[in-house]
Amino acid sequence: MDFGPYIRDIENFPKPGVVFKDITPLLKDPEAFQKAGDALLAFTGNMKIDKVVGVDSRGFIFAPMLAEKLGAGFVTVRKSGKLPYTTVSESYDLEYGTGTLEIHADAIEKGEKVLIHDDVLATGGTAQAVCKLVEKLGGEVVQCNFLIELTFLNGAEKLKGYHKKVLLQY
Ligand code: IMP
Repeated sequence: MDFGPYIRDIENFPKPGVVFKDITPLLKDPEAFQKAGDALLAFTGNMKIDKVVGVDSRGFIFAPMLAEKLGAGFVTVRKSGKLPYTTVSESYDLEYGTGTLEIHADAIEKGEKVLIHDDVLATGGTAQAVCKLVEKLGGEVVQCNFLIELTFLNGAEKLKGYHKKVLLQY
């Protein structure tokens, strides 16, 4: 299936000069939504995966479904101040700004195999920070998958050494 027609460009969002890839047309279409989930799942082949990490907040749409289908646990990485228990944190650069991401200190056990999922790979700062959080807890990142990669922002550079899979590249 060609998912391109289900991704909408929003100019000057969230700030002037940025063209935001809006995935909501894909999410609201029953067939595109289901097939996108199937395609993300297919990326994992027959990998053994213990935990699927979803990234705040659009990573939370597909990551729980992937976890359920893979027989894995679902873990949230959130922007700072959102998680209630003891956290481990990592600062990162974003396409538009900077921030801090957090994970619960007990979310991943040493040696667990981890799939990271987010909607968009842009500059790669977010995904790189999430990889670092997983590794701080002793997890092994076996794949990072995304719906969309904005290749002109060179996020793949920051994910060198990791297995990256994407549905759509721009
Ligand atoms: P990065 O850290 O620059 O790679 O930005 C990736 C993060 O920002 C992801 O969590 C995305 O959800 C979000 N993001 C960046 N650009 C876009 C976009 O065009 N559409 C939707 N989300 C985006």
